[in-house]
Amino acid sequence: MTSTVQTCDIAIIGGGLVGASLAVALAPLNLRIVLIEAATPPGSAPSWDERCIALNAASQQIVASLGLWDALAPSVEPIRSTHISERGRFGVARFTAEQAGLPALGYNVPMRALGAVFAEAAVRTSLQTLAPARLRSLQPAGDAAHLIVELAGGPAELHAQLVIAADGARSTVRELLGIGAASRDYQQSAIVTAVRPQRAHGGVAYERFMPSGPLAVLPKPDDAQGHACSLVWTVATEQCGDYLALSDADFLAAAEDAFGERLGRFAALGRRAAYPLERVISERISAPRVLFLGNAAQSLHPVAAQGFNLGLRDVATLAEVLAEPGDRGASERLARYEAQRESDRARVAGFTDGLVRVFSNAVPGLRSLRHLGLLALDLTPPLKQAVLQQNLGYGSAVPPLARRRG
Ligand SMILES: Cc1cc2nc3c(=O)[nH]c(=O)nc-3n(C[C@H](O)[C@H](O)[C@H](O)COP(=O)(O)OP(=O)(O)OC[C@H]3O[C@@H](n4cnc5c(N)ncnc54)[C@H](O)[C@@H]3O)c2cc1C
Repeated sequence: MTSTVQTCDIAIIGGGLVGASLAVALAPLNLRIVLIEAATPPGSAPSWDERCIALNAASQQIVASLGLWDALAPSVEPIRSTHISERGRFGVARFTAEQAGLPALGYNVPMRALGAVFAEAAVRTSLQTLAPARLRSLQPAGDAAHLIVELAGGPAELHAQLVIAADGARSTVRELLGIGAASRDYQQSAIVTAVRPQRAHGGVAYERFMPSGPLAVLPKPDDAQGHACSLVWTVATEQCGDYLALSDADFLAAAEDAFGERLGRFAALGRRAAYPLERVISERISAPRVLFLGNAAQSLHPVAAQGFNLGLRDVATLAEVLAEPGDRGASERLARYEAQRESDRARVAGFTDGLVRVFSNAVPGLRSLRHLGLLALDLTPPLKQAVLQQNLGYGSAVPPLARRRG
């Protein structure tokens, strides 16, 4: 039995990177916002782990527009260029910050640092956080949604004009509302760690495609002990356990063998963690009084480093849609949000899935086509610019928070 009923304008379910960044983005609207997170804050949302996130230029601009870039800047390493290749082929596609007319194509940032910056900013707002708290039931009812949330002291009832599902790929909100999702298990897992390369990375983000999946080596800030990079190695899930069981020396030797000699020998820097890779696209991103954002709307393969970047554009768009006064959960408003996000979501999800399928395929004819594709990408300026703009986060209509200043 619940005792009192609390009312609010917006209930955000999930305090991962998307829920936390949304809470900060909505702060200037002076709404009554309640964030419900299953893990205990601060800085302990399960997704705030040792991974690094490559923030693209649009995301950097959003973080700057939220007034948080200066706090994040000491933890980031600029990505000045990218180098995309396929093992056993000489074709290479390169993108540079100069070609984009920007100081950097993006910034590699530890997830923990990003989560901590959002959490610290949220503390300075009137946001009410319930954690650890788990959503148990959700009923849209006329002018509000009725929620039951399980807290340590027992259940609490909450009425919200709008509920934001930012509760990840396995969204409880989606389940409670009986909304389906199209999912594809790639049978791949990403092994994530940090390494010390012998040579300086020079701000280059490398992505090397292999039949098992891509190996990405991304720049991290140097420290007193030397150079550092984050490594994301996609392997077949059935072999993932074997890779995790290798000694550091054997794992590094295997990674060097796959990556080649560009950065010299690798030394171990961090522990290894593995993430099974799945694509989950929600059948709907709106329901009466409910919107789905971030991984709850679309969870993508990390091959193109777009998942959180796309989620942050969800956040920036919603902040704009909710800025006008009135019923924040009105159906016309939700429809406007959905329409504004349609093209960006479809493009990025399609592009990402296409990359995985084309590059994880060992069919001989396709290998030659891939090789030609990489060469064409490198040598055809309009194609290069189109792909560049998409990866920078400027491929579709851009929400105001992501617009470049000056
Ligand atoms: C290996 C790897 C590398 C990646 N690299 C990049 C990259 O370079 N660039 C990029 O843009 N993206 C990258 N991504 C994607 C990125 O990590 C995700 O898109 C992003 O973290 C999703 O955040 P989210 O807040 O939507 O979801 P989540 O991180 O899943 O957060 C959901 C939150 O909801 C909470 N929750 C769940 N159910 C409930 C409930 N019932 N009640 C209350 N709370 C609940 C959970 O505790 C969790 O904190 C990568 C992903 C992987 C796996």
